[in-house]
Amino acid sequence: MNDGTVVIVGGGILGTMHAVSARQRGHQVIQLEREPEARGASVRNFGLVWVSGRAPGPELELALRARRRWAEVTADVPDVGFRPAGSLTLAADETELRLIKEASARPDAAARGFEVLDPAAARAVNPALGGEFAGALHCTQDAIVEPRRAAAALRAHLARSPGYTWLPGREAVAVAPHAVRDHTGQWHRGDLVVVCSGAAYTGLAGPHLAAFPEPPLRRVRLQMLQTRPFPGRVTTSVADGDSMRYYPAFDLPGRRALPPQPPEAARTRAQLLLVQRRDGGLTIGDTHEYDEPFGFDVDEDAYDHLRARAEHLLGTPLPPTQRRWAGVYSQVTTDELYHRSPMEPGVVLVTGPGGRGMTCSPAIAEETFA
Ligand SMILES: Cc1cc2nc3c(=O)[nH]c(=O)nc-3n(C[C@H](O)[C@H](O)[C@H](O)COP(=O)(O)OP(=O)(O)OC[C@H]3O[C@@H](n4cnc5c(N)ncnc54)[C@H](O)[C@@H]3O)c2cc1C
Repeated sequence: MNDGTVVIVGGGILGTMHAVSARQRGHQVIQLEREPEARGASVRNFGLVWVSGRAPGPELELALRARRRWAEVTADVPDVGFRPAGSLTLAADETELRLIKEASARPDAAARGFEVLDPAAARAVNPALGGEFAGALHCTQDAIVEPRRAAAALRAHLARSPGYTWLPGREAVAVAPHAVRDHTGQWHRGDLVVVCSGAAYTGLAGPHLAAFPEPPLRRVRLQMLQTRPFPGRVTTSVADGDSMRYYPAFDLPGRRALPPQPPEAARTRAQLLLVQRRDGGLTIGDTHEYDEPFGFDVDEDAYDHLRARAEHLLGTPLPPTQRRWAGVYSQVTTDELYHRSPMEPGVVLVTGPGGRGMTCSPAIAEETFA
């Protein structure tokens, strides 16, 4: 790059990881965010750096590279809360256990750090699991970050050195070769402009996306909750057997033997994922809504299902719910792992990693600059 300036649109994790990568390469960085602080998918997620569920091949490789990058780039930024806690996917019965055993025999099982554990061995890893289950798949490569803090903490770290400018409250409204104009009329020029505008498909990215013959992206809405502090320590993240119905790593013969989900879970396409936050609260989700217009409210039956499932696995009542929210992510409709397309010379749109965006963001940013 000639003058080594990179302009980034979007203060979510994808934009912020691009800022981190650009600064590491010695470029000047200007990062715009339309809100006073980013409040999209990147602060609404579980903070799961999730390797276990990834499809074999390029998706797994991207996630493993990203997981290594998470550990590197957060070494000096403790507020990100990166912890290599691993995960346990719990089998409710013999059918789910058979699928877990199949997954542990995958050729890439060692790269994922897969091991099948009986209930006693799973409780030795995570003593909070006081409920009933038939066995567990331990994944040592899964990790956790604090989503409400991660991107902001990385940006605060960048801002401690010269060469980085954070411009919140600036909505990018137009692009031209190597430049972007914000709503105040100011142009920001660089050798490269990276637009990481998440699930905003109108506005800046609108005309560009509308020119595709088929929509390359779709939006997905998820419901989440967080409890008040849980008294015990939940040492790993936890997934239930329903997660194996959705994650491609479990697309194995045994998946076809799984019975239908309970009606409430099937209706809301629910899976249980559970992570303990640093304050002790449990982040619990999620559901999946694909058809727009999305509901503007949250569905209490889905929460009842997820809370009951978590209580069953932990073997104890959950603390009261403290927060409920929904989030929307941007997902590619193609076989790609995420979407990257040139909007103008020197201007690139990067979005659409779907439910793997928090995980893969550091590696996606590296690929932009590679
Ligand atoms: C509920 C939920 C749970 C999830 N759980 C996980 C998980 O545990 N692990 C995982 O890997 N992934 C997870 N994901 C997916 C992950 O959160 C997303 O893929 C990722 O956060 C996308 O990051 P982003 O920066 O592209 O988007 P966003 O976080 O949405 O950021 C885009 C930003 O761009 C800004 N913006 C948009 N337009 C403009 C403009 N014109 N000018 C200036 N700023 C603009 C927006 O205000 C926003 O701040 C989850 C998603 C959700 C919703």
